Amino acid sequence: MTIKLYNTLSNSKETFTPLEEGKVKMYLCGPTVYDYLHIGNFRGAIFFNLVRNWLELSGYEVTFVYNYTDVDDKIINKAIAEGVDSTVISERFIAEFEKDFNRLGLKKHTHNPKVTEFMDEIVEYVATLVKNDKAYVVDGEVFYSLDNFSDYGKLSNKNLEDLNAGQRVEVDNRKKNPYDFVLWKPSKEGEPSWDSPWGKGRPGWHIECSAMIKSILGNTIDIHGGGIDLIFPHHENEIAQGEGCNCEKYCNYWMHNEFINMKNEKMSKSLGNVITGRAFMDQYHPEVLKFLMLSAHYRSVLTMSDDKIHQAISGLRRVYETLNTVETVLSEFEQSDAGKVNKTFSQLLIQQDAKIKKSMNDDFGTGELIASIFEVIRAFNALNILKKKKDPNSWTTANALKEWICRYGDMMALFKEVPSKFLYDIDEMMLKEKKIDRATVDALASKRDEARANKDWESADQARDELHALGIDFQDTPDGVKWNVKV
Ligand code: AMP
Ligand code: ZN
Repeated sequence: MTIKLYNTLSNSKETFTPLEEGKVKMYLCGPTVYDYLHIGNFRGAIFFNLVRNWLELSGYEVTFVYNYTDVDDKIINKAIAEGVDSTVISERFIAEFEKDFNRLGLKKHTHNPKVTEFMDEIVEYVATLVKNDKAYVVDGEVFYSLDNFSDYGKLSNKNLEDLNAGQRVEVDNRKKNPYDFVLWKPSKEGEPSWDSPWGKGRPGWHIECSAMIKSILGNTIDIHGGGIDLIFPHHENEIAQGEGCNCEKYCNYWMHNEFINMKNEKMSKSLGNVITGRAFMDQYHPEVLKFLMLSAHYRSVLTMSDDKIHQAISGLRRVYETLNTVETVLSEFEQSDAGKVNKTFSQLLIQQDAKIKKSMNDDFGTGELIASIFEVIRAFNALNILKKKKDPNSWTTANALKEWICRYGDMMALFKEVPSKFLYDIDEMMLKEKKIDRATVDALASKRDEARANKDWESADQARDELHALGIDFQDTPDGVKWNVKV
């Protein structure tokens, strides 16, 4: 079955055909390392991790490059403000990013290049552009000459005439065309600088990705990703550089994820409406962030709200409650050689595998994938396996569900927690949110247990009402009250 993906270059879904059979070269623009990343920045990392995993499950060998932008005005300004070298800032925030990334449990990228490690390649790239008459030098500054690249605008569907008529860039008399962009610029006093044929300086932003792509992956790559804000000018400029330097197509498939919004505005540092990935993971859990992101299609805006977060928590609770049942069955029931997976359930798994494959192959339909997982869970729960200890098929059926969920969990980087611990963590999140002490709930639960043991129905009812008033769901079980916090 073929994989179709939405290519920004053609504004349509296309069948994916790699340059080299069985192999995929993939690049995702990474973070500028001057601060903690907000959850919007993590959307790409979480989604493209799934793209890579799905391609691998489909039999491709994937080389996945995610860079660190460690030369940038924002890094330099912070370094000046703190009176330190700019590498102190970039290395600090690379380390902080890696802590967040590891907590998310995403697969390690094949390469994480830094701009500072590719200065020779960048200089050589710019020199080739000058040699190819795609760039010109003015007072130690090198500009890309858009008038000499006729394909400019093919990704973003813009053309230079319209852009110039709109005049959204400052007039710089040194430029031949107002939209010509900087490839290399002289460093100011106190800024980091590198030797070049045009004097000591540093690269412009766009050139780094083109140079790292050429060095690590080659002249043409299969898939290039990023957030939609990067389509113009960043990715448009990358194409101009790549095709101007190599005289070959730069990238076959461009994939862009939509924004994470806060109340109808893009989450962004400049608007001051950000939640850092770290703060989110501290308040909730990495699972909640990943589940929330993958519940929405990557090309739709995801507007953050308490409701959405709660829906994600409820969804995860449903999955983990079932996984918890599975663990009970696997540890307490007998594994039988005669055991077979319940027939209708096994058929359902096969049917849902086909459905998932179809939706994933149709531009990564993660919403449908999650819907299939719920359908399987519903069917498993309806089997009431906990009540069938003597049935030789119980253990095998529970194990089949575990393996099935783990397979898709590995792909999404989800469902990796110990179920009982994670269910406890969900209650902790909700208790914190509702500002309730666990001890208060435990005391009410004990009060109800004691009252019921003493047939003191009035006190038992009182405890019940108090628990409900706090937003606690509970069941009376032979082992006492089992409670959880309503989401
Ligand atoms: P930056 O560090 O600003 O270059 O952003 C790093 C990545 O995060 C880029 O791919 C951006 O497109 C992406 N990004 C920034 N803000 C958001 C947002 N609110 N929602 C989704 N992606 C975003
Ligand atoms: Zn880039």
